[in-house]
Amino acid sequence: MPNPRRKISRSKRDKRRASWAAKLKSSSLSICENCSEMKIPHHVCPHCGYYKGKSVYTPESVS
Ligand SMILES: [Zn+2]
Repeated sequence: MPNPRRKISRSKRDKRRASWAAKLKSSSLSICENCSEMKIPHHVCPHCGYYKGKSVYTPESVS
């Protein structure tokens, strides 16, 4: 069975995970141009219902 030859050191393992977490954080969310809330890129903003400067829907205020 193919196996890694050496155990990966704590520092090497943590360095790998650090860059991976940073990538995830930076790429998973963008800022809405209309209300400047965090939103998913290339999706309609869940806060104001805007996409590309147009109102796609008007979110009803949840009581
Ligand atoms: Zn918005």
